[in-house]
Amino acid sequence: MDEGGAKKVVSFRGVTENVGRYNFQNKTVLIPEMNRVGGHLLAATFRSFGIHAKVMATYRGNDLGKEYTSGKECYPCLITTGDILYFMKRESERLGEAFNAEDYLYFMPESDGPCRFGMYNKYQRIILNSFPEFRNVRIGALTTEDGYSLAGIIEQERVGDLRKASYFSVIVADILDRSLWRIRPYEKEPGMADDFIERSMRSMEDAFERYGARKDFEGILDKLDEILEEGKTIIDPKIPPKPLVGIVGEIYLRTHVHANQDLIRVLERYGAEVVNASIAEWINYTTYDRLREAKVSCLLNLKMLKPARVKEDLRKILGYGAELAYQQARQKKIYKRAWSSLDVAEDHRVSHLEHILEEEDIYSFSAGTEACLSIPGIIAYAREGFNGVVNVYPFTCMPSTITSAIVKPLMNKLKIPYLDTPYDDSFQPGRESTIRTFMYQATQHFNRRGRKMPTRALASAA
Ligand code: SF4
Repeated sequence: MDEGGAKKVVSFRGVTENVGRYNFQNKTVLIPEMNRVGGHLLAATFRSFGIHAKVMATYRGNDLGKEYTSGKECYPCLITTGDILYFMKRESERLGEAFNAEDYLYFMPESDGPCRFGMYNKYQRIILNSFPEFRNVRIGALTTEDGYSLAGIIEQERVGDLRKASYFSVIVADILDRSLWRIRPYEKEPGMADDFIERSMRSMEDAFERYGARKDFEGILDKLDEILEEGKTIIDPKIPPKPLVGIVGEIYLRTHVHANQDLIRVLERYGAEVVNASIAEWINYTTYDRLREAKVSCLLNLKMLKPARVKEDLRKILGYGAELAYQQARQKKIYKRAWSSLDVAEDHRVSHLEHILEEEDIYSFSAGTEACLSIPGIIAYAREGFNGVVNVYPFTCMPSTITSAIVKPLMNKLKIPYLDTPYDDSFQPGRESTIRTFMYQATQHFNRRGRKMPTRALASAA
């Protein structure tokens, strides 16, 4: 009872306790697998900084995920809940008495809204708390609120290096993924590209473990050159170019091959070459958006004559501005280097995407979410000469439903084939025939209008 006699029946402390930004050292850091290559390269980067990081097996704990969710949560929440429960249960069985939940830190970033991504880790906290033996597993939650700052997770003087190396790993993983999509539709023998990407991921993991903390990025790029040169030899030059299909959508679904039922492979089976939106695009967007917000706030505080706040805003503008400039310069440099070996698809600039939205006047960065990237991303694909676009997302996903509602009439006007592919964990019997029909339309478009120029030609024309 409190002093007023009212009894406190609900406490929300359990939701926020053991969730936050913690020191990653001396813990086993558990990374959920979203896009396979990216997860493994990030874990390798962490390991090079002395953090014991590992990527958890994914999609094996879906029964557990379903048992501990109600069906109303986003599909990625169900999958990641299953992943962490499956891992912890197996780990406690394996170690028996020696198992100690405090040894683990589950890495689950969040966004500050407005959709449900900010709630995954709170919800998963409640679930972990319902198992007494898992209550002390901490959840390491980096947030978009500060542009995924890594402050506090290792010694302060190494935070900047870790951030740079982690960002580097994101770009390299994007390029490896893009090399797979560039090569696989034209491989000399079936299976060569899959084998190539698995081996490449492993040797890149070694490179990041060895060179990441030393910031020997040249060493990593030398390895990337070797990999891409090998990849080029898998392409059969006798196979003519195929219709080019762009993918946008919710980041987890579009990169998690189990969750999207291997959509890219299915599209390829029906004759496509595919380019998926990158992971770096989202990282750049979070930095870009913090910078944009700081500018808006600065103008407002200037008008309201609040000098202390203006000073704080200027500090943020400088900080986020420098970070964005670094990220973009780094990204450009790595892509240029990759293009000297293989013409992987180039990436969209966030400022360019915002410009498209302003031009078309159909959505605003002020409204936030992934729709800010997907809507202009679709238009960019259309303008660049892609032959079709697919929007992939979890069933009921808020930003992707907005995207779909806005772009459908536009795509009709532009006469570009467009397909929505919402997923949950069920198999929809009509899915494959829908994709086949879409690919028929994309092929018609390709036959009539041709397709986008190869990236290298674009780069040299620039
Ligand atoms: S983007 Fe979609 S799936 Fe992801 S948290 Fe938001 S609403 Fe859920």
